[in-house]
Amino acid sequence: MSAKSTPKKTVKKTSDDEVVKKPVVRKVNKKRPQLLRGMKDILPQEQPYWEFVLESAAQTSRAYGYDRIDVPVVEELNLFVRSIGTGTDVVDKEMYEFETKGGDEVALRPEFTAGICRSYIEHGMMNLPKPVKLWTNGPLFRYDRPQAGRYRQFHQVDWEIIGSPQSALDAELISLAYHLLTGLGLEVTCQINSLGTPETRKAYITALKDYLKPHKKNLDEDSQERLTKNPLRILDSKDPGTQAILEDAPQMIDFLDDESREHFMSVLEYLDEGDIPYRLSSRLVRGLDYYTHTAFEFILKADEAELSPPALIGGGRYNYLLQELGAPEETPAIGMAMGVERIILALKQAGIEGSPAPKPDVFLAQIGETARKRALRLFEELRQEGFVVTSNISKNKLSDQLSLASKAEARVTLILGQKEMIDNTIIVRDMENGSQETIPQDDLIRSLRKQIKQ
Ligand code: AMP
Repeated sequence: MSAKSTPKKTVKKTSDDEVVKKPVVRKVNKKRPQLLRGMKDILPQEQPYWEFVLESAAQTSRAYGYDRIDVPVVEELNLFVRSIGTGTDVVDKEMYEFETKGGDEVALRPEFTAGICRSYIEHGMMNLPKPVKLWTNGPLFRYDRPQAGRYRQFHQVDWEIIGSPQSALDAELISLAYHLLTGLGLEVTCQINSLGTPETRKAYITALKDYLKPHKKNLDEDSQERLTKNPLRILDSKDPGTQAILEDAPQMIDFLDDESREHFMSVLEYLDEGDIPYRLSSRLVRGLDYYTHTAFEFILKADEAELSPPALIGGGRYNYLLQELGAPEETPAIGMAMGVERIILALKQAGIEGSPAPKPDVFLAQIGETARKRALRLFEELRQEGFVVTSNISKNKLSDQLSLASKAEARVTLILGQKEMIDNTIIVRDMENGSQETIPQDDLIRSLRKQIKQ
C-alpha cells in the first residue's frame, strides 16, 4: 500500500519518558507525617533479632544448596491474579494495586512465588540442571486488617525448588524448615496434608459443598460467602459454630487418587526417616489457589491446641503454576515462606535473644585537633586490618571516651594525644586490667594482633 492511500491518523502518542517527566501539581499538607497503619519501623534495638533470624536463614539456605535470587517489589498486577487466583482473599481484598503514570496496572508483591516463577521462565532457568533451588527474603504487602503480628508490610524468607515432582524434595524442604526453626530455639510442629491434583480437589469441593449447603444458615458470615466463591477456605474458619459443623465433613484424603496418595505416603516416609515430627491435618488447605499435593504449616508446639494457630512457615507443592504462567513444559515445583515478624514474636515470647552486635576489639580515643585528624585515618587502617573498632570522634574529654569504651566492653583502648602525635607513639590501654603502655605507632598493628589474638 502506498503512503498516499492510507492517510495516517494523527494520534499523539506520549512516550513513557514524557509521562515520567510530566510534573504533578501538588498541594503540600502541613500535618506532621506519620507512620501508616499496618506499617512498622524496625528500630535499632530490634535489629539483633532480625540479624539472628536472617543470618540463620541465609546459612541454612546455603547449606541446603539454594542460590539467592531477588525479584522486584512491583510486578504486573496480572501476574498475581493469574497465579494466586481470583476468589482468594489476597487477590480480592488485600492487594496494593495501582496504575502507573504510563497506564500499566501493577501491584506490590503480596508473596514471592509468583515473581520467582516469572523470573525462572523469563531467564530460561528451565535449561539449568534440575531442580533449581532458589531462596530470597524481603518485604511483602497485603492490605489486611492490622492485628498483633499481622502487618500491611511484612517480611518473609522464601524458598522454591523448581523442576522436579520428587517426593524426597517435599521432605527435604520440610526438613530445612524444621531444622531452621529448632536451630533458632523454637519448639514447633509440622502440620501436613495433601491437596491432591486439581481433579481430585474439584471432586472434593463438590462433596464439601453438598455437605455444607444444608448447614448454610448456621455457618459464619464469611463462610456463607465462601460457599460459592472458595469453599475450601471454609475449612480455615475460626468460628466455633462452623468448626463444629465441619467435624463430620468429608475429608480430602479420602478423595485422593492413587498417584496423589502414593506421593503423600512417600513424603511421610521420608519425614519418618529424617525424624521430623508431623501431624496429619485434614483441614489444612492454605490460602492460595495454586497448591497441589503436599501442603504444610509449621506452628509453635505451645499453640497446638488452638483452633487455627498462626503459622510460622507455610508452604506446598505447585505442579501446574509454572506452565500456567508460560513455562514451555510441565514444571512441577514446591516452595515455602517464613514470616519473619511472626518468628521474632515467637523468639521474644520464648525469651530467646537475638544476635548481639560484636563487642569491639578496639576503642580509639583522641585528644586535640591534630590527634583527631590522625584518628580518622587510623580508624580505617585498623578496620581494614580486620579489627572491630569503635570511637566517638565528637567527644573531646578522655574521661568521657574511656567510659564509652568500657560501656562498649572494648578489649583495648588506644589513646592519641598531643604528646603522642609529636613522638609518633600511641597509648595502648588494656581494659581488662587497666594497665597501659606507650608504643611506637609503627608497632601498633603487630602489638594489637598479639594482645587480641586474631
Ligand atoms: P502465606 O504467604 O500467607 O502462606 O504466609 C506465610 C507466612 O508469612 C505466615 O506463616 C505468616 O507467618 C507470615 N505472614 C503472612 N501474612 C502476614 C502479615 N500480614 N503480617 C505478618 N506476617 C504475615
